[in-house]
Amino acid sequence: MSFIISEDCTACDLCREECPNDAISEGDPIYIINPDRCTECVPVYDTQQCADVCPADACVPDADRPENHEALESKYKELHPEEV
Ligand code: SF4
Ligand code: SF4
Repeated sequence: MSFIISEDCTACDLCREECPNDAISEGDPIYIINPDRCTECVPVYDTQQCADVCPADACVPDADRPENHEALESKYKELHPEEV
């Protein structure tokens, strides 16, 4: 499933450059994750990089967008055709 940024975000900008899919952007007032670009960091990392660096614990799974590992990997391949 995609991750989502909660209202606890303090717009510190630590997460944006950590995302392997450029899924995070600055919003108003909090940062946002594009669900079409979030793969939970599959298959690049074992943990979610945004959640790992977020000092506010604001990067959380979006339960409304269930996706299994295969779907996430397939999304990653579509986003990075040059790596396939
Ligand atoms: Fe990007 Fe990974 Fe966070 Fe999704 S979980 S927004 S892919 S850093
Ligand atoms: Fe917001 Fe956390 Fe990202 Fe900082 S690291 S911009 S607090 S979501």
